[in-house]
Amino acid sequence: MNADVLVVGGGPAGSSLAVALSRRGVDVLLVDRARFPRPKPCAEYLSPEASRVLDAMGALGRVERSGAAALSGVRVRAPNGLVIAGDFVAQHGFRAYADRGLSVRREVLDEILFDCARASGARVAEGLRITDLVRDSSGRVTGAKQNAGEPIRARFTIGADGLRSIVARRLGLARTTRWPRRLALVTHYTGVGEVGEQGEMHVERDGYVGIADVGHGATTVALVVPAARAREIARDRTAFLEAWMRSRPHLAARFSAAERVSPVVATGPFGSYSRRAWAPGAALVGDAADFFDPFTGEGIYAALRGGELLCDALVEALAARDGGEEALRAYDRARRKEFSGKWIVERVIGAVVGWPPLINRAAKRLSARKDLADLLIGVTGNFVPASEVVRWSYVWKVFVG
Ligand SMILES: Cc1cc2nc3c(=O)[nH]c(=O)nc-3n(C[C@H](O)[C@H](O)[C@H](O)COP(=O)(O)OP(=O)(O)OC[C@H]3O[C@@H](n4cnc5c(N)ncnc54)[C@H](O)[C@@H]3O)c2cc1C
Repeated sequence: MNADVLVVGGGPAGSSLAVALSRRGVDVLLVDRARFPRPKPCAEYLSPEASRVLDAMGALGRVERSGAAALSGVRVRAPNGLVIAGDFVAQHGFRAYADRGLSVRREVLDEILFDCARASGARVAEGLRITDLVRDSSGRVTGAKQNAGEPIRARFTIGADGLRSIVARRLGLARTTRWPRRLALVTHYTGVGEVGEQGEMHVERDGYVGIADVGHGATTVALVVPAARAREIARDRTAFLEAWMRSRPHLAARFSAAERVSPVVATGPFGSYSRRAWAPGAALVGDAADFFDPFTGEGIYAALRGGELLCDALVEALAARDGGEEALRAYDRARRKEFSGKWIVERVIGAVVGWPPLINRAAKRLSARKDLADLLIGVTGNFVPASEVVRWSYVWKVFVG
């Protein structure tokens, strides 16, 4: 079971990394505590730029053929009823790898990605839970302990094990964000009325809900509410979700003939980050490294892209004489370069969404200025640089006039 690189977690981050490494000739062992297909609470939307990484992994055709829905853009309904609608194909001059985003159940997506890792030559093990890290006398990570056998030795051990990553916690790198503290309830329905080609976000004073076609006649529903509602949710999460939806007239009508086809799963609070995403002999990628809030729907792209970035660093680290520390430092810099704009946008959107007067004001401007809405949707679609909206002139137009 020993390997040059042990990747803990076979979600989008771990599978992307395993594919990239084994294509570069690296001996990789990818392990997951689950057996695929496995569920993952998610709103299941992939930004148009995610298609580039899926294509590079050899997964795009399979995902499309699986019956994934194609999304042309996103509509955000503010508490005052105004709608901000942005399309991925627009006049701003930026073009994504694909003209559409995709929406596909995680049971389907993650199994395809894990299969791609296997097909690329990575060794894979399902149903294998990592329980701790192994270190040498200098404190360098040299592998991991597992639930079902001898410890696994590796030159590098990677935490791609999602929120509440055991690798991040054992490295002492995991930090929890104090704000926003939100919980999510996720499920699927059939028979929802008026589900179109755009992903939907409905922001209310007490939370928001994402709704999208996920193919095969199913609609994904992801409700996010303040963590202060935890007790009510614990009493009966299904009743909570259904009462929440019924109490919004514009949603209740659309769900009146709908049938719930999967159990309601609760998750959260989710905000976490690591001040740096590496330690001697180890690194973090995907949600294990950082996750803020699901509103912008960028987690899967960040996980896939993070896998590519970490691959470059590990190939250098494996060849280095300094134990790979400089290469892993460079990985941290590459992450910051790639994602820091997104981190700012996520936080600004997180604040606006949590403060109804602000989102109502933004909706007033953005519902009348499609060019500004398209830019914002392009940023969250990962193909318009964040700097296009992280500038005073944009903020001024949205909030002042
Ligand atoms: C409510 C909600 C809605 C979301 N909606 C969207 C959306 O619409 N679009 C989007 O892009 N992102 C969305 N996200 C974020 C997205 O789900 C994540 O960012 C993405 O799944 C991260 O991928 P990952 O590979 O890092 O982690 P994960 O997908 O969580 O995979 C981690 C893997 O590690 C395994 N694992 C964990 N611990 C161990 C262990 N000890 N040993 C072995 N294996 C282990 C798990 O079984 C799992 O398979 C949403 C998140 C939430 C909470």
